[in-house]
Amino acid sequence: MPCLKCGTDSPGAIRFRALEVHTLHIRDFDGERIIQALGDFREYEICTACASEEVQAVFLPAKRIVMMCLPFVLLTVGGAVLSLLLTFGGFMPAVRALGPVAFVVGMIGTAGKAREILGERETVSKMNRDDAVRYCAWQIVLKNAPKKYNDNDITYIPVSKDTLRMTPSELADKYGLLPPISSKAHELMHNGGTKDE
Ligand SMILES: [Zn+2]
Repeated sequence: MPCLKCGTDSPGAIRFRALEVHTLHIRDFDGERIIQALGDFREYEICTACASEEVQAVFLPAKRIVMMCLPFVLLTVGGAVLSLLLTFGGFMPAVRALGPVAFVVGMIGTAGKAREILGERETVSKMNRDDAVRYCAWQIVLKNAPKKYNDNDITYIPVSKDTLRMTPSELADKYGLLPPISSKAHELMHNGGTKDE
């Protein structure tokens, strides 16, 4: 099976089996509700080269932090510049507030993203090498696997020793499932899903 990210067919690739969950968000007079259904089991492979690259990216996060924080940094700088321009431009107070608001939103966004990336590094650094590689390969699957089916959002429950140990309510919590769906997923994973490790 070719690697989901780079398309290379290599021996020793890391294989995942995952159950698709389709979620449709419906907004009506009562607010928002969701309709959920289970899709098929999918098999994905990530080659070891892509997985190692991802592990390195997690441990040397400077580049990723810069890329992910860039929009917020631009917003921060833009906000600061706008604040100065508006202060001297004789605009109404509501308009003048735009600059500082953009600045603050930008700062909060930058800090939040950086914390998220460093938090992931913290998580991975506590794992042994094999678990770290597997965790990173799964993140690549989540980034590259289809995310939409018509209007439905697609999410994935990996069939692994961890998820096979979970109760339906633990699955529901971790993967945002409605109760009947988590029971069905639990049943399918134990009957139809084979252990992948
Ligand atoms: Zn690859």
